[in-house]
Amino acid sequence: MTNRLTPDICIIGGGSGGLSVAAAAAAFGVDVVLVEKGKMGGDCLNYGCVPSKAMIAAAKHAHAIAQAPDFGVSAGEAKVNFHKVHDHVHAVIGAIAPNDSVERFRAMGVNVIQAEARFVNKTTVIAGETEIRARRYVIATGSSPFVPPIPGLDTVDYLTNETLFERTRAPRHLIIIGGGPIGMEMAQAHRRLGVEVTVVEGFKALGKDDPELAAIVLDNIRAEGVSLLEGCKVTSVEKRGKTGVRVNYQSDAGDGFVDGSDILVAVGRLANVEGLGLDDAGIAYDRRGIKVGANLRSSNKRVYAIGDVAGGLQFTHVASYHAGLVAQQILFRAPAKENRDIIPWATYTDPELAHVGLSEEEANKRHGGRISILRWPYAENDRAQAERKTTGLIKMVVDRKARILGVSIAGAGAGEMINMWTLAVTNGMTLKDVRGYVPPYPTMAEIGKRAAISYYSPLTRKPFVRWIVRFLRRFG
Ligand SMILES: Cc1cc2nc3c(=O)[nH]c(=O)nc-3n(C[C@H](O)[C@H](O)[C@H](O)COP(=O)(O)OP(=O)(O)OC[C@H]3O[C@@H](n4cnc5c(N)ncnc54)[C@H](O)[C@@H]3O)c2cc1C
Repeated sequence: MTNRLTPDICIIGGGSGGLSVAAAAAAFGVDVVLVEKGKMGGDCLNYGCVPSKAMIAAAKHAHAIAQAPDFGVSAGEAKVNFHKVHDHVHAVIGAIAPNDSVERFRAMGVNVIQAEARFVNKTTVIAGETEIRARRYVIATGSSPFVPPIPGLDTVDYLTNETLFERTRAPRHLIIIGGGPIGMEMAQAHRRLGVEVTVVEGFKALGKDDPELAAIVLDNIRAEGVSLLEGCKVTSVEKRGKTGVRVNYQSDAGDGFVDGSDILVAVGRLANVEGLGLDDAGIAYDRRGIKVGANLRSSNKRVYAIGDVAGGLQFTHVASYHAGLVAQQILFRAPAKENRDIIPWATYTDPELAHVGLSEEEANKRHGGRISILRWPYAENDRAQAERKTTGLIKMVVDRKARILGVSIAGAGAGEMINMWTLAVTNGMTLKDVRGYVPPYPTMAEIGKRAAISYYSPLTRKPFVRWIVRFLRRFG
């Protein structure tokens, strides 16, 4: 070993979570080492959020051209140059990369080591030629695409999020295995870029979201031409001719298959726990990730785990939230606990789908059915009409004291709109707080206020009348 270090903090993984802890520690002048074995910025920058949202942005432009005649504007037929879409995606990554770079973090005072890290005992990590004995460790190693053991899958060049954005030529017919947020975002984006797309989902697509709102999004994606096969479990994959693939599946309606040119596997994520020496370090883990308490501490008291590897919700903002909680504990010795009820999420399909707090089902269970549900459709919003974005609704769950327990939105800009409701849920706000604020006209944010004030309508306060109103809205 040529180098021995004894920093206050050693962080393993330079992605969303690890970089946030490193920046916080460096800002307070703490001696911090960051070990990253791959690209700085992790999944989000290189293979996840950034390239996917950049591709979605390109697809939105193609779609806008197709929609332009509805506004009285003609732009001809959209022509997609997939090579240039690839270049755009990588230009966006390149524009953000300096923020996460080795140079920037070294300039902040972080000792960045570019190597694979591994615990050799409860107190020591080895990274390349360096031995590290830190006072505290933060594991932020993220997750990898889960590739299920489907017979024949290893005989074809399947894609995952790690290879999808490298493509410079459009697939002829992309078959996506998995109808979760990543699968559905990529399905719609590719369809809008002119690709034939089939999604094969074993259960229900967007199954973690409110089914009423997920249905709005899925209907729209189907209407754009994506073929969505739900309740179809993939049984095998085979090569067809020189460039083709066949995906065989089983469903209640019988066996079937779909032929295409490429396969994207998007069935979930596996926490990166392999090769870290967790057993040697006395750190408990399972398939979902490293086991942590609400304070994000592992079974080895000097080690914290954050972000995707910590086995909870897998989002960039969760990794950053975790980083803040851990920094608070390590830097200020102040207790901090994760509260999963305040974490929002958004799926960047069109319309977008966003949620924060309790779902209707969870709220019903926790509050013994003593909840009210408020809805307001986009179609009754003037700005939504002007923009022709009338598909969707906001749905709010409140308790008997009108406290906002959860909000789901399917509709244009849902990912932006959920911000205000995240603040409301985080601070335990009630509808009374919302009743008094004035949104600018015409904005889609008014949809939320209209839903909130509908609670005070003498008509909708009566349960029976509420039931009739809901019935009429649905079937009238
Ligand atoms: C296609 C896709 C789209 C997504 N879109 C969104 C989105 O829109 N919004 C959102 O919030 N989230 C999104 N996510 C999720 C988001 O990317 C992750 O939740 C986030 O990156 C997790 O951050 P992290 O710090 O836990 O891990 P990462 O950012 O992945 O960082 C982990 C780092 O650890 C390194 N590492 C691993 N093992 C070792 C080791 N032994 N030694 C040294 N280094 C190691 C890795 O190389 C990696 O750089 C998306 C994910 C995907 C795949």
